[in-house]
Amino acid sequence: MKKKECPSCAMNIEEEEKTCPICSYEFPRQAPWLQWVALLLVVVMLLAFLL
Ligand SMILES: [Zn+2]
Repeated sequence: MKKKECPSCAMNIEEEEKTCPICSYEFPRQAPWLQWVALLLVVVMLLAFLL
């Protein structure tokens, strides 16, 4: 199993954990750049629809 380090308590926890079981730190759901790519795609599709 892959592990990741909790930025709050510096413990190694399972990669797929969404919250730290030790300090209940919440990990972001997805990479911020993914949200930007999704937003950009929506804007491009909207422009293609309007033009
Ligand atoms: Zn933690």
